[in-house]
Amino acid sequence: MAIERRTTVKLSGRILYLTEDPDLLRRQLAGEDLPSVPDRLIDNISTDEITPGWACYYYDETIGRYCLVGLRGGVVDKDALRNGAFTVIVSGRSKGCGSSREVAPYAEMVTGARLIVARSIEKIYGQNCQNIGLLTTTDFGLLERVRRGEEIPIAEFTRGLDPVSAEVVAYGGLFAYNRARLAGEVSPPRITTAPRPMTLCEKIIARHAVTDARRDHGGALGVVAVAPGDALFVRTDVRFSHEYTTPQAEGLFRAGFGDDARVTEPETVFAFRDHLTFLESVMSKEHVAMGLDAAARKLKVVQEGFTSAQSIKLFGEVERGGATVGSEAICHNKVIEELALPGDVVCGTDSHTCMAGALGCFAFGVGSTDMANAWYTRDVRVAVPETVRFVLHGALPPGVTAKDVMLHILSQPFWRGGQGIGKVLEFAGPGIAALPLDERATLTNMAVEAGGFTGIVEADEVVTDYLVRQRGLDAEAVRARIVRADPGASYAHSFEVDLATLEPMVATPGDPRNGVPVRTLRDKAGGDVKIDIAYGGSCTGGKKHDMDLYASVLERALRSGRKVAPGVRLYIQFGSQDIRRYAEEKGYLALFARAGVTLVDPSCGACIKAGPGVSVTRDEVTVSAINRNFPGRSGPGQVYLASPLVVAASAIAGHIVAPDALG
Ligand code: SF4
Repeated sequence: MAIERRTTVKLSGRILYLTEDPDLLRRQLAGEDLPSVPDRLIDNISTDEITPGWACYYYDETIGRYCLVGLRGGVVDKDALRNGAFTVIVSGRSKGCGSSREVAPYAEMVTGARLIVARSIEKIYGQNCQNIGLLTTTDFGLLERVRRGEEIPIAEFTRGLDPVSAEVVAYGGLFAYNRARLAGEVSPPRITTAPRPMTLCEKIIARHAVTDARRDHGGALGVVAVAPGDALFVRTDVRFSHEYTTPQAEGLFRAGFGDDARVTEPETVFAFRDHLTFLESVMSKEHVAMGLDAAARKLKVVQEGFTSAQSIKLFGEVERGGATVGSEAICHNKVIEELALPGDVVCGTDSHTCMAGALGCFAFGVGSTDMANAWYTRDVRVAVPETVRFVLHGALPPGVTAKDVMLHILSQPFWRGGQGIGKVLEFAGPGIAALPLDERATLTNMAVEAGGFTGIVEADEVVTDYLVRQRGLDAEAVRARIVRADPGASYAHSFEVDLATLEPMVATPGDPRNGVPVRTLRDKAGGDVKIDIAYGGSCTGGKKHDMDLYASVLERALRSGRKVAPGVRLYIQFGSQDIRRYAEEKGYLALFARAGVTLVDPSCGACIKAGPGVSVTRDEVTVSAINRNFPGRSGPGQVYLASPLVVAASAIAGHIVAPDALG
């Protein structure tokens, strides 16, 4: 029997408008239906707000009970969405920004929602909605038709989508589409793009294009060229997931392909236990009483069972001195240290998978449904994205780092306005050539904060040297893998950035796009911004070069007789055990201890409200080297994002300062 493909949908039920007016929101949750779209819909609703980190310990329908409880303003209570029986959820710009967690749209769907309407929809969130059969649109005109109970052609929800995504929507999700694909009922359109100059990512995609998915045909690969909008499946070189997402993907994998299904080529699949390593040390009594500690432990158990049954390498926890001290690594740090290579396609169930683009590979985050399919097929669907090119000139002034570059870029109207959603950020130019690999990794890591598909830097001798030193690879073999953008390639936009004009930046609480120069903060805040916590860590701020930066400030402070300011806690958390070893060899562990730092072994920790360094009250102020500061992400307090230099200098000063303020 042919797999069902929808041509129309009829939606009936209530419409929930997520508005900035708390009273209006409360009234809707209590049963009032609004006659029209209200003013001031909430923009930038992150997946952290839809499903706060702790709610993600549930990966079955239970999570629907907590849908939107993290929404700013604290108006939405447990079960409110389910009890309200809303079919449509409406909000403003950039719906679903932040983490790639598929449980966010899944939570909305299991409350009964069938359609998400927003002024703009973030790329990974939108793709996750398609994969699970949740309709999305940016066309507010459809609301009236929903209200009238019209039968609406499915084409209204696929307008503007690439052909594969449109078919996924019509089939009601990726599993149904893939079943139809494997049954020969549907196939992605043949790529007929004529040879053309291509960007870096386009070239990697073209080389990895799957032209024949049938296993008995050996899975033919490669087309001569692709162009933005081409829709296809690409063969992956590295697939990975962490404990937050592996259990959901595992359940989907079994449901989709059967209990006996095997992961294809498990030697290129990796799993990490890195997100929740220290969770129990900071879990509130209230959450323990809710049974969240047991729910979180179950994630680990399910992940271990799956990886061992499928012969998948699991990077877990490590012991030192006979005790378990932390994780082996945060996934993205390990992918760079050990797994990805220039020219690869890397996909992971985490939005910061893009960090590996620093090696010159095409690396991007996917949801659990995409990963469950990729485990089986080894391929993942891609609509070739447009590329925005940043040409970096000049040299960074002293005290300014790649983090400041990104906070500056993100604060520009192009990104704040959502124009960059789904685009590749390609960094090039003489300014980038002078940056060490770890600094490039900060740029690519934070591409997703711009709403980008990914970030990428053309590999060069810096990358070659790193891979020779780090992995003992042959330099010529590495060079042979390097992919370069073609001269004459087309870019959606091109920005010139003079690094010499940049200065230390800070993103004020709520959004990484809130960047302002540190020197203006005092005036804006009406005085010094005093801090309680300074946090140096995460995949973004826990690299070897970041350790050099923390050490440079702290050493200077110690020389002038200063330490971490009274009342301030400075945490430094390593991105991997390799990075910790580096810090130890350089003498930083002793230096950090002398300065009053609390050292933390590798894990995502406070970045995801699951380890030392989280805030516990609304009043607490943190300056942090992590990559995002969406409401509630690292606790209820206020989080300012900054560079490792600013974090360390602020810890010494007791309030947010640029590093030169220490003298
Ligand atoms: S450190 Fe933070 S941003 Fe990085 S992978 Fe972990 S949770 Fe995500």
